Amino acid sequence: MRIFGHTRHLIAAAAMLLGLTLLSGCGTPANHPHTFSGATMGTSYNVKYAGDKENDLQTLVDERLSELNQQLSTYQNDSVVSRFNAYRETDWFPVTQDTLYIVKQAQTISTQSGGAFDITVGPLVELWGFGAAATVSQPPASSAIDEAAKRTGFNNIEWRDTPPALKKNNAAIAIDLSAIAKGYAVDEVSQLLESKGINNYLVEVGGEIRAAGFKPGNELWRVAIERPAVGSRTVQMVLPLSDQAIATSGDYRNFFEYEGKRYSHSINPQTGWPADTGVGSVSVVASTAILADAWATALLVVGVDEAIRLSEKYGLAVHIIERKTDGDDIRLVETSSRAFKKLASQE
Ligand code: FAD
Repeated sequence: MRIFGHTRHLIAAAAMLLGLTLLSGCGTPANHPHTFSGATMGTSYNVKYAGDKENDLQTLVDERLSELNQQLSTYQNDSVVSRFNAYRETDWFPVTQDTLYIVKQAQTISTQSGGAFDITVGPLVELWGFGAAATVSQPPASSAIDEAAKRTGFNNIEWRDTPPALKKNNAAIAIDLSAIAKGYAVDEVSQLLESKGINNYLVEVGGEIRAAGFKPGNELWRVAIERPAVGSRTVQMVLPLSDQAIATSGDYRNFFEYEGKRYSHSINPQTGWPADTGVGSVSVVASTAILADAWATALLVVGVDEAIRLSEKYGLAVHIIERKTDGDDIRLVETSSRAFKKLASQE
């Protein structure tokens, strides 16, 4: 059975009927945010903001998101990333500043996570059917996994600041920015809002969220973390959020099942197989959405104990929901880092 859709674990409380309802925008009462949404990166985005209405804002946001998509997508053959992936040489390949910035951030988190986060997993993501190519409904042959794994390894990518460029040490390397680029898009839209003097907003792209300031009425923005369950959308907890970003990675939206076992889209680069740690979802709160997005994938791959160790080492606010099976019963076990506990105790 193959179930897929975009991982939309975080339901912005402002979009949930938690005391706020989505409005058409025009004639917005003073105590409701202005709101607009659209499609991007194979998923959707939502923007909510308080204060005076900015008429050209959605056009500017759409333009910026389209510009990023054109650089970062592996679903468009003419994007910068797709052309870099298709380039079968080991010379310097010119890239944009956006692409370089994201790859540099990714490489830092790859090093800090011991390689659990690795944008060069592209060949494995495609092999397991979670990329732009065809989907699969059963695990690939071990020989194919071993062969694809030989074309990965974040140490095979070098970057250069001036002029901005990337270089492969293995000509077959292909990068996949799906676990970090939406977070970057959230940060870029947030920066655009702030350039317009908007400092009270909630921006969401494909489930990655960044909140700044307050909702109208001077209340904290509140986002809901979903219960990691297939086919249902229930709230596991609601978190107050201000001047921070939150992202969640999970195994219950984008996966297939084969012979009773679930194979989801977060790949363990060490094994070449989907992460199999019993963790249903990891939510990370960080100062920027790019960090939250990438760390959520990294910590899902390493499992609870290592995730908490890394969270404490790097001061990350992390909430992990693990599935524990007792016979036919499945119960959820929640574990949080110290920073998350402190955040969740705010009201
Ligand atoms: P996350 O949980 O944030 O990350 C999981 C994804 O990261 C996996 O799907 C895989 O791609 C990758 N990954 C897996 N393991 C690792 C690892 N260990 N380290 C690093 N990365 C890993 N989808 C479409 O269907 N159509 C489109 O046109 C489309 N366009 C896109 C354009 C852009 C610029 C981007 C960034 C993505 C696009 N996508 C598209 C993919 C889609 O938006 C989501 O990125 C995808 O479904 C995963 O989102 P997520 O939040 O569930 O993933």
